[in-house]
Amino acid sequence: MAITSMAELDLAGRRVLIREDLNVPVIDGVVMSDARIRAALPTIDMAIGKGAAVMVMSHLGRPAEGQPDPVYSLEPVAERLGQLLGREIRFVADWVDGVELVPGEVVMLENVRFLRGEKACDAELSKKMAALCDAFVMDAFGTAHRAQASTYGVAEYAPIACAGPLLSGELEALARAMTNPARPMVAIVGGSKVSTKLHVLDALSKRVDSLIVGGGIANTFIAAAGHDVGKSLYEPEMLETARALASPGEGSAAIPVPTDVIVAREFSAEAEPTVKSVDQVGETELILDIGPDTARRFADIIAAAGTVIWNGPVGVFEFDAFAQGTRALAEAIAASEAFSVAGGGDTLAAIEKFGVADKISYISTGGGAFLEFVEGKTLPAVEMLERRAEASR
Ligand code: ADP
Ligand code: MG
Repeated sequence: MAITSMAELDLAGRRVLIREDLNVPVIDGVVMSDARIRAALPTIDMAIGKGAAVMVMSHLGRPAEGQPDPVYSLEPVAERLGQLLGREIRFVADWVDGVELVPGEVVMLENVRFLRGEKACDAELSKKMAALCDAFVMDAFGTAHRAQASTYGVAEYAPIACAGPLLSGELEALARAMTNPARPMVAIVGGSKVSTKLHVLDALSKRVDSLIVGGGIANTFIAAAGHDVGKSLYEPEMLETARALASPGEGSAAIPVPTDVIVAREFSAEAEPTVKSVDQVGETELILDIGPDTARRFADIIAAAGTVIWNGPVGVFEFDAFAQGTRALAEAIAASEAFSVAGGGDTLAAIEKFGVADKISYISTGGGAFLEFVEGKTLPAVEMLERRAEASR
């Protein structure tokens, strides 16, 4: 369904309230990574360019709701935003009952999570936010799976509600990968547990041609195939589920199980890595990575893909001795011609570690939101924008 995009609106002289995801790491008042602030710059620039009076709002961290706490203040973020934009940004601590500003001005509003009712999407709070503006711009993909006052409620009551360019770009990239993908379509789902990614595995197994599993998730599939996984991280209660997913059926994905693995005697960075055939894992050993033959086989599947979706490392990539499998897949994605999309907190850390970020077609900014999109769910904040666009037609 269509949503209104900010790019198509005339915003001259209008009061524009932009919801960004500026939830960046701040330690002792210092912004440690400004990637998310940089990502929001084009949207804010576009609003200024259109002659709007701009208010930027975001959450930061997890403060106790209704209790302003300087540790979670967005003031340092406002300062960095000002440096990056090369203009004065006024920081407004008390804003919910009204903000004075003029066209051409940009103000940063204090943490939305300091306000009681934000999480519960309180109608009164949502209406107050909506009353601040002529147009509300949702631009925070990472929070689009949460129906809260600043992501959802405000969009219901604002005179106009639209998507910012960052959100639009993200939705387009994910739709390109998921809705009408170039085939073969390959998904890689790694990480620690089947149970936390069950819906993702289930949804993807019905859509992709090959579903590569790795990490603790693969261990559960290895055990389900009848192999001993020793002391490896795996979920005995998920064996049946894994068997059902792996059983070949009409229209379901092939799930190639690792044939060799890298094991250790302990979970540590210093542990000695040993390559073993998947049916030779000892009862005191832990599987911490996929083996070199498996990595090569998976890399070949990726090389032949038209679309690749990646969530989750296939080994304990934080330890160099067990990072090779994840590295091999990251490099295979980087080298492939496929349209590739990656998301997830640890997945992004792995991409950074292996220096392949610029060779992946699209890196999602949302962890939870990315997974829900991949599951085929409609994100609440996006659904609200669709409803508003529909109503205005
Ligand atoms: P993401 O944040 O990208 O969604 P997850 O949080 O699901 O990924 O999983 C990442 C974690 O899984 C990493 O900390 C990694 O060390 C762990 N992991 C991967 N493979 C294994 C394994 N074989 N045994 C134990 N932990 C693993
Ligand atoms: Mg994680």
